[in-house]
Amino acid sequence: MPEVSYPKEVIRDLIEGKLPWHQLKSIISGYKDDDRFDKYVEILQERVPWQEKILLPLSDELYIVQKGTERIVKCSCGDEFGDCRENWKMKALIHVRDSEAEIDELYPYPCKPAPEYCEIREHYCPGCGTQLEVDTVPFGYPAIFDFLPDLDSFYRDWLGKPLPQEKEFKDLTCELTKKWGEESQGK
Ligand SMILES: [Zn+2]
Repeated sequence: MPEVSYPKEVIRDLIEGKLPWHQLKSIISGYKDDDRFDKYVEILQERVPWQEKILLPLSDELYIVQKGTERIVKCSCGDEFGDCRENWKMKALIHVRDSEAEIDELYPYPCKPAPEYCEIREHYCPGCGTQLEVDTVPFGYPAIFDFLPDLDSFYRDWLGKPLPQEKEFKDLTCELTKKWGEESQGK
């Protein structure tokens, strides 16, 4: 496999969408440079106003970071959503569009989600108000957990740099809602 290594400035332009198409196509079609992930995370880290180490980006605004011994989801504004094994959407502000009038605001044409069958859930950061994710789902459908990465396997087996304090790879969302249920019943 040919070795490639792009300068950090090129990777920064790649992230920010500033590369001309011919260069972009050559990079995304080619072999990845061995240190791409390190450079990528380094650039992301320079763009956020907080110090916790980024372990993995989840989206344009959300990151999994190391905070003490925990791995939590954090917004670029600094707002924190708790353990990354819990669905961060449980702690987001949610606006539900379930009427024709509200759906028409987004889909002012005939082909659109039918409010008789589904709803549009918009998730916002409580800290900065940024829209983080939008899901269109049938009524009552559980909150979609977009991405639960196996961080320990990724760092250990793919990057060769095991993370400290290995965590059980498990969706903890139900335990969070169970705890809320017990608290609301005064247990
Ligand atoms: Zn935020």
